[in-house]
Amino acid sequence: SGPASLAAALYGARTKIRTVVLKGNQPGGQLTGTSYIENWPAIKKIRGIEVVKDFEEQAARFGALMVGDSAVSIDVAEWPYLVKTEEGRELRALAIFVGTGATGRRLGIPGDFEYWGKGVTNCAICDAPYHKGDIVAVVGGGDSAIEQSLELSHYAKEVRMLVRSDFLRASPSMIERLDACDNVTIIFNTSLVSINGSNDHVTSVDVINNKTKEQQRWEGVRGVFLAIGHIPNTQMLEGKIRLDTNGYIELNGRAQTTSLPGIFAAGDVADPRYKQAGVAAGDGIKGGLDAVWWLSEIGYNTQVERKLETAFF
Ligand code: NDP
Repeated sequence: SGPASLAAALYGARTKIRTVVLKGNQPGGQLTGTSYIENWPAIKKIRGIEVVKDFEEQAARFGALMVGDSAVSIDVAEWPYLVKTEEGRELRALAIFVGTGATGRRLGIPGDFEYWGKGVTNCAICDAPYHKGDIVAVVGGGDSAIEQSLELSHYAKEVRMLVRSDFLRASPSMIERLDACDNVTIIFNTSLVSINGSNDHVTSVDVINNKTKEQQRWEGVRGVFLAIGHIPNTQMLEGKIRLDTNGYIELNGRAQTTSLPGIFAAGDVADPRYKQAGVAAGDGIKGGLDAVWWLSEIGYNTQVERKLETAFF
């Protein structure tokens, strides 16, 4: 029930296709973990939870059925595909849109969960503008960490990129781009130990040098940006549709179709590159349309719909 799925559901429901949304364990997805969104096209500033609420109501108004339950398995051995849910529901689906998103890796250290959305985040594009003149820490040594550091360098006074080893996983071309930023420092062999704060915002971090084991408190750090990778939520699809080596769903060219007919995907579960709510919504629309067109190609029409209505709903 993130932006990809809700956009797909809107397009499915508006075309009068019986559309069921399994909302999952975190209804609204990652958007509900952010504070304000300032990059949702045409809306200057809005809370993430409000976008989700409006999105849900809009899809529901056209007939999408919102179900507070989670898919636990998808059986693709027979068609219509069988989706089983946590609460024991069994749904036979002619088409499935997968918008299960990705879960940002977390550190699991003190303060990580407590200050999430209050200075701790994994989205510099979303939150960098709130850190004008601040000292911020970015954790990770991959392309995302560099991307977040570059984004933050436009706003923050000082960006400290913490790399746990003495090695950057990022690509040379990304590393080169850091040369032009004199307010970004890479600090190797260093990990966060705790994130500290008061009155709902981060005020300092404790770090450890992994070689010397020396610990320090850095006062004045106002933001912690985690860039330690994402895990796409594709566990129930392993061995069923084509995934890339990192577990993301592979799509066919510009379409949101997957390696199995009738299964469509969009959003972070199929997109290791952009990871933006707006992109997920746009690709969700494409996925919804791809599903509608595919159903129409295989003969779905109002008569079929009426039969399904009596037999299944
Ligand atoms: P990566 O897996 O490439 O990098 C993750 C980084 O986080 C590594 O430096 C890793 O350290 C570190 N890390 C992991 N766990 C911890 C931890 N618990 N504590 C501290 N550090 C930790 O993930 P990215 O999200 O950066 O990139 C994912 C993919 O997306 C890559 O293929 C990347 O190339 C691509 N990408 C491309 C971009 C571009 O081209 N512009 C932008 C962003 C991403 P270690 O090396 O020690 O394991």
